[in-house]
Amino acid sequence: MTDAASLADRVREGELRLHELEAHADADVAAEARRLLVEEQSGASLDSVGNYGFPAEVAESAIENMVGAIQVPMGVAGPVTVNGGAISDEKYLPLATTEGALLASVNRGCSVINAAGGATARVLKSGMTRAPVFRVADVAEAEALVSWTRDNFEKLKAAAEETTNHGELLDVTPYVVGNSVYLRFRYDTKDAMGMNMTTIATGAACEVVEDETTGSLVALSGNLCTDKKPAAINAVEGRGRSVTADVRIPREIVEERLHTTPEAIAELNTRKNLVGSAKAASLGFNAHVANVVAAMFLATGQDEAQVVEGANAITTADVQDGDLYVSVSLASLEVGTVGGGTKLPTQAEGLDILGIRGGGNPAGSNADALAECIAVGSLAGELSLLSALASRHLSSAHAELGR
Ligand code: NAP
Repeated sequence: MTDAASLADRVREGELRLHELEAHADADVAAEARRLLVEEQSGASLDSVGNYGFPAEVAESAIENMVGAIQVPMGVAGPVTVNGGAISDEKYLPLATTEGALLASVNRGCSVINAAGGATARVLKSGMTRAPVFRVADVAEAEALVSWTRDNFEKLKAAAEETTNHGELLDVTPYVVGNSVYLRFRYDTKDAMGMNMTTIATGAACEVVEDETTGSLVALSGNLCTDKKPAAINAVEGRGRSVTADVRIPREIVEERLHTTPEAIAELNTRKNLVGSAKAASLGFNAHVANVVAAMFLATGQDEAQVVEGANAITTADVQDGDLYVSVSLASLEVGTVGGGTKLPTQAEGLDILGIRGGGNPAGSNADALAECIAVGSLAGELSLLSALASRHLSSAHAELGR
C-alpha cells in the first residue's frame, strides 16, 4: 500500500498530478499526501484541516483534490412546532454557522412561535429548471422552434424522462431574444435538489430539438434557468420549492416576550423590509432570511452557492384584530434530501434531526418537509430580528418622551 510520503514524492518528481492520487492510494492517504505538498509549498500547518471525522472516500463525489475538511460549528434552535403540508411535528432545527447570536435569535423566534401554537408552512409550487440556449438564423426560425416546442412536448418529455427514474418534465417555456431561443425546462425532481438530474435529462431532450428543428444548441444552460445568480425570474416564477410560513401571535405574547407591539413590528416591516428594500431595488424584501437559509443549508448538505436564490424572500407583517400576523415567502428554495452533499455523514445526521434523511414516502415529501422547516426557521429569525429592532425603537422613543 502506498504511503502519503511516497505519493507526495511522486508528485514532486512529476510522475503524478495532484488530482490523480486516488487512483494510486485510498482517499485518506491521497488527502494526506496533498496536505504534505501544500504544507511544504505554503508553510501552513494543516493539522486541523486533516483532523476530520469521516472516511474521505464518502466525499469523492462531493469534491476533487481533497486535503481535509473545514469544520463549521452546528447548533439547534427550538424545538419548534411546524404545521406543514409535508411535516407536522415539533422539531429541533439544525443550523451551522460562525455568526454568534444567530442561534440565540432564531431560538427566541422559535419559542414565540411555539407560544402561539406553532407556524403553518406550505410548499406552493415546485420545479427545478434548466434553460438551454439555441442559435437560429432569424426570428422566423425562432418562431418555428417555439411552435415546434409547443407541439412536441410529449416527445421532449419522453426523451428527458428516459434518463431518470424519479424526474418528471412538467413544462417547457420558450423565450426569444433576436436569433437566440431559450427553452426553460421545469421538472418535478422529487426528493433531489435536481440540478444534475435536470441537466442530464435536458441534454437528452436537446438532442431531439437539434434532430428535428433548425435550432443549434449553444449551451445546455443559457442562464435563464437561473442557477446561482440573483434573478427576478426565480423571484417571480419560482425555482426549486416556493414555500411560505406564517404565524399569528397574540398581542400579549408580543408585548410580554418580545417587548414590543404588533403595530411597531408591522410599521417597521413596511418601512424597512418593503419600502427600504424597494428603494434599494433589492431582490430580497426581508431582514436576514439568508442567515437561516445558509445555516440550514450547511447543516443539511445543500449546495451552499444556492443561498443566492434561496434567500430570495418577502416578509410581511400585519396587525389582525390586535394580534400580530407575520409571514415569510421564499420563492426559490432549492433543496434535496438525497444526492449531493446530503450523503456526507454529518450532513445526513443534520437531516436525521428533522427525521427526513433520504427519499420520502411519497417521493418528494422529504424535500418538501425540509423546505417547510427552513421556512419556519426563517420566520423565527425574521420575528426575532424585527422585534429586537422594534423594541429598540420603542425604548429610544420612550427615553425621548420621558425627558
Ligand atoms: P444527484 O446526486 O446527482 O442525483 C440524485 C439522484 O438520486 C437522482 O438523480 C435520482 O436518480 C436518485 N434518487 C433516489 N431516490 C430519489 C428520490 N426519492 N427523489 C429523487 N431522486 C432520487 O443529485 P441532484 O439533486 O440531481 O443534483 C445535486 C448535485 O448537483 C449537487 O451535488 C450540486 O452541487 C450539483 N450541481 C450540479 C449542477 C449542474 O449543472 N450539473 C449545478 C448546480 C449544482 P434517478 O434520476 O435515476 O431517478
